[in-house]
Amino acid sequence: MSAIEKPARAAKKAAAKIAAVVEKGVRPKRSGRRPPAPVVATLERLKAAHPDAHCELVHRDAFQLLIATVLSAQSTDVGVNKATPALFAKWPDARALAAAPVEEVERAVATLGMFRQKARRIVELSRLLVERHRGAVPDRLEDLVKLPGVGRKTANVVLGVWWGRPEGVVVDTHVQRITQRLGWTKHTEPEDIEVDLMKKVPKEDWDAVAHVLIFHGRRICLAQRPNCQGCPVNDVCPSAFRAENVGRKPSRVRT
Ligand code: SF4
Repeated sequence: MSAIEKPARAAKKAAAKIAAVVEKGVRPKRSGRRPPAPVVATLERLKAAHPDAHCELVHRDAFQLLIATVLSAQSTDVGVNKATPALFAKWPDARALAAAPVEEVERAVATLGMFRQKARRIVELSRLLVERHRGAVPDRLEDLVKLPGVGRKTANVVLGVWWGRPEGVVVDTHVQRITQRLGWTKHTEPEDIEVDLMKKVPKEDWDAVAHVLIFHGRRICLAQRPNCQGCPVNDVCPSAFRAENVGRKPSRVRT
């Protein structure tokens, strides 16, 4: 097999696998276990249960949202929201932060994990925003992901929350866990789960689905001891009352 044939065959196999998963997802299983309910109907019920679901990172503009999202890697939104008021009071925009001494920025974000790395990153990111985009935050995925510390997930937070037009679905640890529990995906990797969600959720809900699942994960479908009894979709969830080990990260990678 040539080097060109190999990836083409792998891509074909992956596409067939995804198609099979999509089809299987709504069929009853012979084992007698509850089949996953159609995603859209379940999502509507979850939206009704969490009408206040939204991005909890405090921000005033696209720049603050982008910086807060970069800072939120391996940190909680609550922790980021404690650090950013002082940060943005001192350096409110890309031009100001690009010119900031890294040591001072380190001190401003010192309460967050990996703060040295994050401080360097947001200063460099700001510098590139000034150099490439006159200090503005771009509204295209391909431009956003070229910035340091900005992956597909961060880019889609900004595109969805600020610009209202995400080009994918944000898959964080809550979305990863709950989509597996609900039977919306058979995959475990965020990229594969995102593909499944993009196929099953209408595009106008790509931003909302992440916020709703994140709120559901924080309030009800907790990683440990999910409250299946009080869950509004326990009648259609294939993992109801046996979810403890579904969608959990293996203990060796848990931090
Ligand atoms: S029934 Fe339980 S496992 Fe299923 S979504 Fe609700 S809380 Fe999570």
